[in-house]
Amino acid sequence: VDRIFSGIQPTGTPHLGNYLGAIQNWVNLQEECSSVLYSIMDMHSLTMPKEPAVLRQNILDTTAAILACGIDPKKCFLFRQSLVPEHAELAWILGCLTNVPRLLRLPQWKMKRASQNNEGTVGLLTYPVLQAADILLYKSTHVPVGEDQVLHLELAQDIAQHFNKKYGEFFPVPKAILSTTKKIKSLRDPTVKMSKSDPQKLATVNIADSPDEIVLKFRKAVTDFTSEVTYDPASRPGVSNLVSIHAAVTGLSIKDVLHQSAGLDTARYKMVVAESVIQRFAPIRNEIKKLQEDKSHLMKVLEDGAEKAKELAAPIYQEIRRLVGFQ
Ligand code: ATP
Ligand code: MG
Repeated sequence: VDRIFSGIQPTGTPHLGNYLGAIQNWVNLQEECSSVLYSIMDMHSLTMPKEPAVLRQNILDTTAAILACGIDPKKCFLFRQSLVPEHAELAWILGCLTNVPRLLRLPQWKMKRASQNNEGTVGLLTYPVLQAADILLYKSTHVPVGEDQVLHLELAQDIAQHFNKKYGEFFPVPKAILSTTKKIKSLRDPTVKMSKSDPQKLATVNIADSPDEIVLKFRKAVTDFTSEVTYDPASRPGVSNLVSIHAAVTGLSIKDVLHQSAGLDTARYKMVVAESVIQRFAPIRNEIKKLQEDKSHLMKVLEDGAEKAKELAAPIYQEIRRLVGFQ
């Protein structure tokens, strides 16, 4: 592993899926690898409509949350995407190598455009190209991603190869580092992933939620008509999602979790899972609150990170300009 790049959209405080599927992994990786970049993807988050004031606040909240989870700016470059304009510039170049039907086939486009009240914007369609630029701008070799991002990473790999073929061997083909946690599902509809942009408030558990909110969300979690606790994602997605969450936050195996929960009905089990989530996130929640009080510190962290990211990107982007003939 030479260089790791990963990002998170500033859509507000991260949820359980973000934490278990991504941030937890990030914390471990910053210890293992000497060149690590983590970005707050503010440009990406414009693909879904945002009030400017809300975006501004979300950037700070996401940063506070990530720091509270243990991301250490001394061990990685933590920065805001839009402070490094080369991301957008490279996206343009890569967009000229990407064919539209390929983008039209991506499931996230199909899903998210349905929630926009038009036919879908150019930004939403080409967002995976910007993602490829995020990764390739630093010649990143590894990208920790959740399952939901695998297809987008494959696109980035293909774009890298296409570029190399056209302009000469230049980009490493970035590899995925898949999180071991399975996709965490929505508590309202266990057939779809838990998502920050889910309009149903009870679907998503944020890591800064109060104990009362956590209890409420789990109490209302959609399960089925069988009261036993079993693990069978295909036929019992609701309960199985609870078991996955329970195992992931306690660090126990699925088998141990089931063993511990033998004899509980799903109603009581939901409260056991809620309690395990509350326990796990109590210290992080306190730390988030503390960090949120010092806005200028949070902004400074992101700016310092961007300075360092720019330094890293500058010679690479310069070479790209030369390769394509801009220079
Ligand atoms: P949005 O709905 O706005 O796309 P999101 O919930 O998908 O938000 P992102 O910021 O797009 O969050 O993703 C950040 C990271 O969290 C990515 O690595 C992604 O793979 C991971 N992730 C997102 N949702 C889940 C989930 N439900 N389970 C596991 N990992 C997830
Ligand atoms: Mg997403």
